[in-house]
Amino acid sequence: MNIQNYINGQYVDPVNNKWLDNYCPANGEIYGQIPDSTKEDVEVAYIAARTAFSEWSNTTLDERNRVLLRISEDIEKNLDRLAEAESKDNGKPIWLAKAVDIPRAASNFRFFANAITQFASESHESVGQNAINYTLRQPIGVVGCISPWNLPLYLFTWKIAPAIAAGNCVVAKPSEITPMTAYLLGEICTNAGLPKGVLNIIHGLGNTAGQAIIEHPDIKAISFTGGTATGAHIARVAAPLFKKLSLELGGKNPNIIFADCDYEDMLDTTVRSSFANQGQICLCGSRIFIEEPIYEKFRADFVKRVKELKIGHPSDPGTKVGALVSKPHLEKVLSYVDIAKEEKGKILCGGKAVSLPDYENGYYMEPTIIEVKTDECRVNQEEIFGPIVTIMPFKTEQEVLEMANKVKYGLSSTVWTNDLKRTMRLTKELQAGIVWVNTWMLRDLRTPFGGVKDSGVGREGGFEALRFFTEPKNICIKY
Ligand code: NAD
Repeated sequence: MNIQNYINGQYVDPVNNKWLDNYCPANGEIYGQIPDSTKEDVEVAYIAARTAFSEWSNTTLDERNRVLLRISEDIEKNLDRLAEAESKDNGKPIWLAKAVDIPRAASNFRFFANAITQFASESHESVGQNAINYTLRQPIGVVGCISPWNLPLYLFTWKIAPAIAAGNCVVAKPSEITPMTAYLLGEICTNAGLPKGVLNIIHGLGNTAGQAIIEHPDIKAISFTGGTATGAHIARVAAPLFKKLSLELGGKNPNIIFADCDYEDMLDTTVRSSFANQGQICLCGSRIFIEEPIYEKFRADFVKRVKELKIGHPSDPGTKVGALVSKPHLEKVLSYVDIAKEEKGKILCGGKAVSLPDYENGYYMEPTIIEVKTDECRVNQEEIFGPIVTIMPFKTEQEVLEMANKVKYGLSSTVWTNDLKRTMRLTKELQAGIVWVNTWMLRDLRTPFGGVKDSGVGREGGFEALRFFTEPKNICIKY
C-alpha cells in the first residue's frame, strides 16, 4: 500500500516522485511505500500552513474545541483500523495498540480540545504606578512536530493536538519507520472538518524531510521526540535561527525496589515496565536495583515470570512480546547482549533472536535479563531501547540513589516502598522529570512531561504544552 503526504487537506505524491520501502516487522516483508520527501515538499506544506494561519488562529475556542473533539471521536470510531495499522507498522501486539496507543491518541485530542477552553494568562497590577499589565498568549504561527516510531500515533498526536488547539498551523513528520497511522490521521482530520492547511503531514527521512523542517527559517518552533543524538543535532541547527524548542529525548530509567514494597504488585508491574512494547518505551525501567534482603527471591521470581512471556505474532491475542520495530534496531539491541557478555554480565534469561514458525524473517527477540556486577558497565549506562533489562542488588538508600543518578539521562524513575519518609527523600533527590512511586506509566495528561539532563529540555503536557505553543506578550496600559 502506498501512502502519500497530506498537504492543504489533500493527499499528494512527493514532488520528486521518489519513494521509500515500508517494512512489516512481524514478517520482514515490504508491504508498501512512503514518500521520500524533500525540502520542496516541506515548502509546499509550509505555504499551506502559513496561508491557513490567519483564519485558524482567529477561530473561536468553541469552534476549535468542537473540531478537536470530532477528531478524537473519529479516532475512536476507527479504533480497529488504526490499531491494525499501528501493529502492522510497528510490530507491537495488536491488543496493546487497541488498549493503549489508539485510545491515548483520541485522549490527546479530547484533552487539548478542553484544555484550550480553560487556558488563561496572567495580569499584574503595577500598584502605585497606575498601570495594569496583562499577558497575551498568541499562537506562534507555523510550528514543526517530529515524532519517533515507538508510540507512533500516541506521540504524534501528543504534539499536534496542543499545537492546533493553541491556534497554530503545523508541518508534522512521523517516523519513516512507522508512517501508517499518521497517514490515516489526514483523512480523519478532513472528515472531522479541520480546515485545510491547519495540519500538513510530510513523510520521509530524518536527514532530508526532517532536516528541511528544522532548518526552515519561518517554522519558529519545533516539538521533537526522539533520540538524544538527534535532539542535540536539532538544537545545533535551531539555535542560530532562534527557534523555540521542546526536546523529549532518550532515557535509562531506574526501577528501585525496597524490601518493604507490596511484592506481588511490584513484580507484576516490573514485568510490564521492563518489557511492554518490547521494551521500546522511553519510560521503561531498564535498570532494576533490588534491596539485598529480597534480591535472591526477586531474581528467581522475575526470571520465572519473564520466561513465561509469550513471544508471538502481533495479531495473536496471546502475544505478550511482539516484533521489534526494524532489522537494524533488532541488531543493535542484540549487540548489547555481546557487550554484556564481554563485560562479564550474566544472562539470566533470553539473549537471542527468535525465529517464529511462518514468520522466520520477523524481528523477534527473547526478553532478556542481565545480572550486572557494577552499575557502570555499558549495558547499564547506554540506552538500549529494547527487551533488555539489568538487575543488581543494593544495600543502602544512599548507594542506590547515587547509582540511579549516575547516568547521563534523567527521564523517569520508579520507586517501590511503603516507607513515607524514604519516599519523600528519594522523590526529591532523584534526577528525573517524573518519579513514580508504587506504580509505573500512570499518566495524568494535566501533568508536566519531560526529562532532565540528556533526556531533554522543556516540558509538554497540560498547560505546559499550551505555553510552549504560544508566545507570551506583555501589554502594559497606564491609566
Ligand atoms: P530518532 O531520533 O532516530 O528519530 C525521531 C524522529 O526524528 C524521526 O521522525 C526521524 O525521522 C526524525 N529525524 C531524524 N534525524 C532528523 C534530523 N536531522 N532533522 C529532523 N528530524 C530528524 O529516534 P527514534 O529511533 O525514532 O526513536 C527512539 C528514541 O526516541 C529513543 O531514544 C527514545 O528514548 C526516544 N523517545 C523519547 C520519548 C520521550 O518522551 N522523551 C518518547 C519516545 C521515544
